[in-house]
Amino acid sequence: MAEQFDVVVIGAGPAGYHAAIRAAQLGLKTACIDAALGKDGKPALGGTCLRVGCIPSKALLDSSRQYWNMGHIFDQHGISFNDAKIDVNKMVGRKDAIVKQFTGGIAQLFKANKVATYYGFGQLKAGNLVTVKQHDGSEVELKGTNVIIAAGSDSIELPFAKFDGKHIVDNVGALDFTEVPKRLAVIGAGVIGLELGSVWKRLGSEVVILEALPEFLAAADAEVAKVAAKEFKKQGLDIRLNAKVSKTEIKGEEVIVTYTDAEGEKTLTVDKLLVAVGRRAATKGLLADGTGVQVNERGQIVVDDHCHTGVDGVWAVGDCVRGPMLAHKGFEEGIAVAELIAGLPGHVNFDTIPWVIYTEPELAWVGKTEAQLKAEGIPYKAGSFPFAANGRAVAMVEPAGFVKVLAHAETDRVLGMHLVGANVSELVHEGVLTMEFSGSSDDLARICHAHPSLSEAVHDAAMAVTKRAIHKAN
Ligand code: FAD
Ligand code: NAD
Repeated sequence: MAEQFDVVVIGAGPAGYHAAIRAAQLGLKTACIDAALGKDGKPALGGTCLRVGCIPSKALLDSSRQYWNMGHIFDQHGISFNDAKIDVNKMVGRKDAIVKQFTGGIAQLFKANKVATYYGFGQLKAGNLVTVKQHDGSEVELKGTNVIIAAGSDSIELPFAKFDGKHIVDNVGALDFTEVPKRLAVIGAGVIGLELGSVWKRLGSEVVILEALPEFLAAADAEVAKVAAKEFKKQGLDIRLNAKVSKTEIKGEEVIVTYTDAEGEKTLTVDKLLVAVGRRAATKGLLADGTGVQVNERGQIVVDDHCHTGVDGVWAVGDCVRGPMLAHKGFEEGIAVAELIAGLPGHVNFDTIPWVIYTEPELAWVGKTEAQLKAEGIPYKAGSFPFAANGRAVAMVEPAGFVKVLAHAETDRVLGMHLVGANVSELVHEGVLTMEFSGSSDDLARICHAHPSLSEAVHDAAMAVTKRAIHKAN
């Protein structure tokens, strides 16, 4: 006999654990199922984000940034030292400890909120039944008045560059190298390629990133992408556009990568190859026959704007559905669905989801780019401000980049904010907040910002929209 719950959540990643905790907070009897195991072979909640994504990558980005700054920035502060060394195993160990702390934290939160936790693989059957194949081989059956699918995503594998976990890896392997590879190739100059490519570059690898598209970071504002490309080049990241990989071969301890660019066929010999060409919804084996849940050609579960699958009581959230594959997008969907189930007005504003790339400098944006506004025929005005004219940024030896505010030409409503520079992962939220409250560039320009702070660049950019920035010529 299946145990009955108000809500059964499949997957305890960002989308699933938010849904489960919020449902439990709202007094719904909630279960959450997750199949993942941590590096120690024990169940680990928190999904891709906490185990092998957002958090571990940021831990290594921070460690490697400290190391890079020793060799490249400290001197400007008048600080010298003898013989900087890195202990990769200690660095990775610190990352593992952070992962353990946070994945364990989800288990504690589930306990505190009385979310019944099942460790194993869940499969949805017709009638909102979910069978769980637990790690000990036993099977349990749960019935949910509501089922929320939050199965997440897996790395896309290229047929000519199969992961072997040692020489050809995805993010999981690239977060766990035991030494700095002398030569690292990356396929894909997207978010993972740039972030993890930066980590190993800063630690001393020669990094070549092969990108199939002719344009660098096509989704970002063109000026932001241009500044980023210039800074990455200065750091020695070798990004080759229009490079189509056709073959890889592991020979001994080396990987030989064959690709074609405008000049013809070339080969590249490296010690490690990271494949970062996107992720695919993890829906394999998830749905038994007859559930009625639709899956599209990309393997994503088909949902409406409220994450409902069209099957009574069945919802889906996070990376396994349409929209950007971002942890915070999953957070919001998980919460919104729990609230809708509880009869509250749950809602996600897909127009104000921020994007951040945690390189050096960081890239961040929210809302529309200039290219999108032009394509949609929306009249706009732009104001920008460079960090080179911001006192705090210069004091921090972080003068690269700028903030750009885009506002409607007639109503002045902020339509987008695009940033590249130090700590813009935090500053972008000024744009998110302004847009969420339907604010104007004038609203932002009239808000007092602390001096000296990086946020003054946002203030000045907002003032520049109406040509009244104080710290630059308008
Ligand atoms: P997931 O996090 O993938 O979680 C799904 C969970 O469901 C997993 O634990 C899985 O084991 C489990 N599961 C799947 N199927 C079943 C089943 N049938 N039964 C039981 N359990 C199941 N996003 C950001 O916003 N910021 C970042 O800085 C960032 N950095 C990233 C860095 C890397 C290297 C990677 C790979 C991703 C990064 N992301 C980042 C993306 C982010 O990790 C994902 O968008 C997010 O984890 C998606 O959340 P989710 O809950 O939908 O899925
Ligand atoms: P991505 O979509 O960001 O980038 C993939 C890149 O690979 C693209 O530029 C694409 O043109 C290129 N590409 C695709 N096929 C190729 C091929 N055969 N040869 C060469 N290049 C090819 O994907 P990703 O970097 O794998 O990251 C996956 C997702 O994870 C991202 O979409 C993002 O949503 C999420 N993520 C987010 C963050 C963050 O928020 N900071 C960090 C890491 C990952």
